[in-house]
Amino acid sequence: MTPEYLLQHVFGYQRFRGHQREIIDHVAGGGDALVLMPTGGGKSLCYQIPALLRAGTAVVVSPLIALMQDQVDALEQLGVKAAFINSSLPWEEVRAREQRLLRGEYDLVYVAPERLCTDAFLDKLARIPQALLAIDEAHCVSQWGHDFRPEYLQLAVLAERFPDVPRIALTATADAATRREILERLQLKEARVFAASFDRPNIRYRVAPKAAPRRQLLAFLEEHRGEAGIVYCLSRKRVEDTARFLQQAGFAALPYHAGLAAETRAAHQQRFLHEEAVVMVATVAFGMGIDKPDVRFVAHLDLPKSLEAYYQETGRAGRDGLAAEAWMLYGLQDVVMVRQLLAQSQADERIKRIEHHKLEALLGYCETTECRRQVLLRYFGEILAEPCGNCDTCLEPPAVWEATREARMALSCVYRTGQRFGVKYLIDVLRGQADERIRRFGHDRVSTFGIGGHLSAAQWKSVFRQLTAAGYLAVDMAGHGGLRLTEKCRPLLRGEEILRLRHDPQVRKTAAAKDRR
Ligand code: ADP
Ligand code: ZN
Repeated sequence: MTPEYLLQHVFGYQRFRGHQREIIDHVAGGGDALVLMPTGGGKSLCYQIPALLRAGTAVVVSPLIALMQDQVDALEQLGVKAAFINSSLPWEEVRAREQRLLRGEYDLVYVAPERLCTDAFLDKLARIPQALLAIDEAHCVSQWGHDFRPEYLQLAVLAERFPDVPRIALTATADAATRREILERLQLKEARVFAASFDRPNIRYRVAPKAAPRRQLLAFLEEHRGEAGIVYCLSRKRVEDTARFLQQAGFAALPYHAGLAAETRAAHQQRFLHEEAVVMVATVAFGMGIDKPDVRFVAHLDLPKSLEAYYQETGRAGRDGLAAEAWMLYGLQDVVMVRQLLAQSQADERIKRIEHHKLEALLGYCETTECRRQVLLRYFGEILAEPCGNCDTCLEPPAVWEATREARMALSCVYRTGQRFGVKYLIDVLRGQADERIRRFGHDRVSTFGIGGHLSAAQWKSVFRQLTAAGYLAVDMAGHGGLRLTEKCRPLLRGEEILRLRHDPQVRKTAAAKDRR
């Protein structure tokens, strides 16, 4: 049987995509492989077809129980003999399936890493012919990554126990550090690396400054009435509040987070998969392994953890190749919060440096005036020669303004008030709005008091956000998250640097809306 025959007659597709054919040939021929392919790129076929081409049973390691069920159901429908063995099954069923495994009745068996790596299971595998070992979501082995799973580290034993069985590791996380870690920790030194382009041209990227998040979200969702999508929030509480709010606004919105009962989560996931136009409001607990081709949008109400996380989360949109949107709100508080979390983290210095670098990249993406797709792909080591024409900065080039004077006002206000206050306080001082606290500290008598009345509070907030994102201001961790100056300020304060900032279109509107209230 040829790969083409299986593709068409078992899986029902016309032709291979991207590197699929090459990967299948390589693995079917006994080679190890690392496959880097974006979410929705078609990684599963890369091990499913070799599994059918080679004699014996293929073992697939997968971190998510819910995901195994779906994959096995799909394969069974195609007439492929597949099963999963995991802790969701009663023990008699586990035993029965293990017996069938030993009799060689399966083409593919899905197992969780913690089960696979037990001596009992490895001994069983040693007794049967294995077609291949596939390690899905291989980035879970990376300690720098956002999905680290310690059980994955044990998978290195597969190389020692089964040196003659081809191994294929697959992931949608592409940065060079993660790639190196996978090759190293999974003992895949000889593996051929297949890296697909990470561009998802049908996804339109948009980022808006956070001003009135609910109103902004509603306006965005109005553009997607009748469509399915995901709204990501940072906390469980925000998930629940947002879901309720959207239900009241007439959307079929459902909450999803790790604090909900397992049955509720499963029920909501099923509705999202099988009903039309369900908006899943979720923490990042939702989404890994969700294969719903017609997700039309992914919205982030809070900053994701990194560009990798952002790329993975937004990658759940538009898997069918049709137009989809990735939309994100981003505000000063987000910057302050992630900076704070980072500084408080107990991680060692090396990890902190990496995390810091990742945060800078994320903020750079949010504030960029370049094509967002170019910025995003560059981060993954890919050069897009021309601006994409399908992101907000391409479609509506952001206006910039010469903000050198205002930036210096803001910075010297931080300095004159002792580098320990938050943004709201600083803005009140700049705009000359003395309250009791300001008077008590005598800050109604500093030279920067009232010099910034020409900008609205919202405009100043935008200035502070951009100064913080660009590293002119740092969040003071010892105190209560007040702002202080960094080294980077010197040339600006000495008048040796000209600074241009983004004009936030949202800012003027909300300022006006607030006045009306
Ligand atoms: P990944 O694991 O990379 O996120 P999947 O393997 O789940 O992606 O595939 C994503 C979708 O694309 C699935 O619906 C799959 O059936 C489909 N698909 C994969 N390969 C092909 C192909 N060669 N032709 C058409 N559809 C494909
Ligand atoms: Zn663009």
